Amino acid sequence: MSQTDIDERIRAVLSEFKLLSPFAAGYPVNQSFDYSELYPLLAFSANNVGDPFRHSRYQSNTHETEREVVLAMAKLARLPAEEAWGYVTSGGTEGNMYGIYVGREMLGDPVAYFSEDTHYSVRKILHVLNVRNFMIRSLDNGEIDYDDLRESIRSNSQAPALVIANIGTTMKGAVDDLDRIRAIIDETAPPRAYIHADAALSGMILPFVDDPQPFGFDSGIDSFAVSGHKLIGSPLPCGVVLTRKAYTARIGRAIEYVGVLDTTLSGSRSAFAPMIIWYGLTRHGADGFRQVVANMLDTAEYAVRQFNANGIPAWRAENSPIVVFPRPSPYVLFQWQLAPLGDIAHLITMPHVTREIIDEVVADCLEWPPVK
Ligand SMILES: *Cc1c(COP(=O)(O)O)cnc(C)c1O
Repeated sequence: MSQTDIDERIRAVLSEFKLLSPFAAGYPVNQSFDYSELYPLLAFSANNVGDPFRHSRYQSNTHETEREVVLAMAKLARLPAEEAWGYVTSGGTEGNMYGIYVGREMLGDPVAYFSEDTHYSVRKILHVLNVRNFMIRSLDNGEIDYDDLRESIRSNSQAPALVIANIGTTMKGAVDDLDRIRAIIDETAPPRAYIHADAALSGMILPFVDDPQPFGFDSGIDSFAVSGHKLIGSPLPCGVVLTRKAYTARIGRAIEYVGVLDTTLSGSRSAFAPMIIWYGLTRHGADGFRQVVANMLDTAEYAVRQFNANGIPAWRAENSPIVVFPRPSPYVLFQWQLAPLGDIAHLITMPHVTREIIDEVVADCLEWPPVK
């Protein structure tokens, strides 16, 4: 391939990205970032293989930064530093897999419970990990149906219970009520219980609002997965998983037993991702994120009002930037890269989604009504 061909391919991809990104209103990715200060690091073959809290023989790593990221995230998730363990993952899915894996190891042979509105990764993970499971109905607002959860745990009351709680569902932004889930566990009294919180997006929202729903380790969760490329914003997928340090001894042994050498799921891991998350957290600071989140929720409220004022029944969950409305025409879905599910769709007011964009989406919905 000639240099011209190479240049052309790179330019073609670049122009596609540039063209598409301002219209992306349907996916929860923050595109307002600039990590160019980190680019020089990309000239090295760095690798975070291994447990970030232990010594690694591969020295070009960013384990120290990774530990800082884990502890910063632990603070946000209300897990005291001395009780915290975790690592930077390849994204929310790996975090869910790790949390559910820890849960399985802690519980023995559990039954897992998750709602219909749970992210698709969870079903796949339960299959891969060979965990018996029940899908629980959802309420219309996207939260788990607590009565159905109680009945299901009760009818399996001999088995330890592994509950996967949504801290912000993908489609409706619903937060499962951890207080109610804990009360149901107390009431049904399975032999042991473990709660994994899937907090892919809202794990970086709820720490920064005035009146959050219960979401953290202070509400009885045992592990927590958050995506890095969603609210923080990242050019490559990444995330953080947290659990209690006390559980990791168990995991070390379990992994040794199956012949795997370390406490993380993947062996070689990105040394760049921790730098991105660290940079994002440090640059914004808590006040910065508070502002970003306040603006997002403000724009979401504006969107609900504009839709409603134009006769479109839109709504959103408390503290959520996800605006749910009736599925629009294929043109509107495509034009704004909206995510549909059955007869609904959503848009998400990430920082690049402005009030002007909302006005345009609403205008397009009116001009191109759904085909009946
Ligand atoms: C996006 C998302 C995930 C998966 O995260 P990835 O980073 O795409 O693997 C898991 N759970 C929820 C609720 C999500 O919204």
